[in-house]
Amino acid sequence: MSNPSILILPGDGIGPEVMAEVKKVISWYGAKRDVQFDVSEDLVGGSAYDAHGTPLHDDTMAKAQEVDAVLLGAVGGPKYDALDFSVKPERGLLRLRKEMDLYSNLRPAQCFDALADFSSLKKDVVAGLDIMIVRELTSGIYFGEPRGIIEEGNERVGINTQRYTESEIDRVARSAFELAMRRGKKLCSMEKANVMESGILWREVVTEVGKDYPEVELSHMYADAGAMQLCRWPKQFDVIVTDNLFGDLLSDAAAMLTGSLGMLPSASLGAPMANGRPKALYEPVHGSAPDIAGQGKANPIACILSFAMSLRYSFDMGAEADRLEAAVEKVLADGVRTADLLGEEGVTPVTTSEMGDAIVSALDASL
Ligand code: NAD
Repeated sequence: MSNPSILILPGDGIGPEVMAEVKKVISWYGAKRDVQFDVSEDLVGGSAYDAHGTPLHDDTMAKAQEVDAVLLGAVGGPKYDALDFSVKPERGLLRLRKEMDLYSNLRPAQCFDALADFSSLKKDVVAGLDIMIVRELTSGIYFGEPRGIIEEGNERVGINTQRYTESEIDRVARSAFELAMRRGKKLCSMEKANVMESGILWREVVTEVGKDYPEVELSHMYADAGAMQLCRWPKQFDVIVTDNLFGDLLSDAAAMLTGSLGMLPSASLGAPMANGRPKALYEPVHGSAPDIAGQGKANPIACILSFAMSLRYSFDMGAEADRLEAAVEKVLADGVRTADLLGEEGVTPVTTSEMGDAIVSALDASL
């Protein structure tokens, strides 16, 4: 069987800096665990625009469709702010998500014990938190028609349409149930079935899909109550599945329970390919951080944890994903901190590269 393939798209700003640390981790797996990946690398975002006049070259798009997983750093930056909307760096990322049809967006909210003090919530509310929000990514109100701003009488009206087909709900629900099966076997579906027809259909379809997963304990919650519960006692949840709009809000809120933006990974998954692996894009939640780019200050952990997600969800290497997450946890427990994680007095921050080296050393120690 051929080696699993990864396309690396470092992007702009701190993207290449954090991706350099992921490359160290990938090399470690090759050298120490004999896990070989076929790695290729290409441009996306502003760097692709500089080279080709487009934020995603057709050849890069074609490569992304062929590989087992795409790993992306970040795109964007002030240099590109004045560009026409059609060639802005973000369009490269949106094209990847759209053409790969990545309908299931996984956003973990995990709080490492060593960082529990960074949360705005009380330590005992967040310490040990490990939940996963699955957000539908390709439909709903951000895409529904009709949309626009129209004239009506003597004023303007802004219109967006929430629209979900049964099949769209079915596929994202299935991906959430599959995920719940690999985790704590608990799934909470969130919508507004009390006031939205799309919410009524959402609840019906999720309930129906649930019959195929009798081991998973399914519950339903109105999304506004869900937001409240996420702040009150987030550890009651294991996996949450919700639509595009509510998922956008709930995943950002949940992510912030855990501290720095530099810690948050994500995965976007699509339909299974011929080899059974889902189409997949892994990326940190953060952007290109132009304010710290080129200074060696970026925290590479979000990007490294995104690679850990690829081990788990694309390559069926859950034990190796555990090993990598444990290495990150150990480094944090040892007090190693990039500048974004400073809180305690007298701690000198390490550079991006030193954080990567520390994680590789912790991987060594795990053998
Ligand atoms: P940002 O995430 O780039 O930065 C927000 C703040 O968090 C900054 O102070 C930054 O220094 C800090 N930060 C972010 N990642 C960090 C890390 N790994 N380590 C330490 N600190 C980190 O968001 P922004 O400033 O709103 O956007 C900057 C650019 O990134 C814009 O061009 C925006 O369009 C783009 N962006 C891209 C993505 C993406 O590629 N997925 C996501 C969001 C924003």
